[in-house]
Amino acid sequence: MQRLLVALGAIVMAAGVAVADSSVTTQRTVTKIADGVYSIRHADAPDSNPQGNTTVVIGERAVLVVDSSYLPSSAAEDIAQIRRWTKRPVRYLLNTHWHPDHQRGNSVYVDAFPDVTVVAHAETAKLMASYDAANRERYPKRLQAMKETLEKGPDAELQKTVDGRSRVLAELERSRLQLPSLTFDSELTVDLGNRVVEIRHTGIGDTRGDAWAYLPKEQILVTGDVLVAPVPYFFAGYPADLARTLHRLLELDVKAVVPGHGDVMHDKTYMRAVLEMVETIVGQVNAVVVRIGSLSARLEDVRPQIDVADYRRRFAGDDPRNQEYFDESIEGLIKDAFYQAPK
Ligand SMILES: [Zn+2]
Repeated sequence: MQRLLVALGAIVMAAGVAVADSSVTTQRTVTKIADGVYSIRHADAPDSNPQGNTTVVIGERAVLVVDSSYLPSSAAEDIAQIRRWTKRPVRYLLNTHWHPDHQRGNSVYVDAFPDVTVVAHAETAKLMASYDAANRERYPKRLQAMKETLEKGPDAELQKTVDGRSRVLAELERSRLQLPSLTFDSELTVDLGNRVVEIRHTGIGDTRGDAWAYLPKEQILVTGDVLVAPVPYFFAGYPADLARTLHRLLELDVKAVVPGHGDVMHDKTYMRAVLEMVETIVGQVNAVVVRIGSLSARLEDVRPQIDVADYRRRFAGDDPRNQEYFDESIEGLIKDAFYQAPK
């Protein structure tokens, strides 16, 4: 995704969704949600990859962290921050899913806190071992190919990409793939000392191993990428299952919701709006497939009959970066809904 100059998009209010934020994040921000519970939003990486939010939960005995970010330097910065908050050790690190922007900092935590247990859903551990290992091998090869293209002639945009990726590669070479050491299938509850964290998997959505965390006493929900703001993340996933997972999350009483990316929310308005969009689009895709005939329907016939203009306005507003993100994300949603439509 192209990095453009920072200029907040106009505030668009429609159906209770306010768009004033950007899917491009340029600075690190720390939010105190409750005593001993913090959320850290990270600036995007130099290769333009967004970095997942990190949530820190401090109990009387130990600390639990949700997601370790993408850049080892971001994980190190978060650890330094945690050490300013508390002398207690990080005992648990939960990866909400396998995507690199939520787990590449794992090894930094293990080096800093040798007794830490890295926790994830069993599928997430498998996906990290396969996909992330492959991604790590592919990254320097693609960078090398870009450098070879640059040798043939100057290209300012490509040079920027190469510079950004070189900075990221230098970091990744100093870290390693750190797989979870404790996996679960449906639930795991951790008591950090007068602070209980319920870790749950209630169905697939964004990936096959999505996990979320909930503090029942404090009513704080940490969702991972089943909820991403200000523009939802659907690039590849399981739309009908995602809707079921969002229904399950909406049953919880919440005072705060930390999405996988974006700012902390204090009610369910955005979650409901995302669910409504997912259900409407899945419903539209299914209806068109039935009308055309499930055996003869092709994506290129179905796609023009799905109208997303209203949702684009609601979620992306006037910000071109949000619009670009929405356009790519929504194509993923429609494609997945089509291929997963009941046949
Ligand atoms: Zn993410």
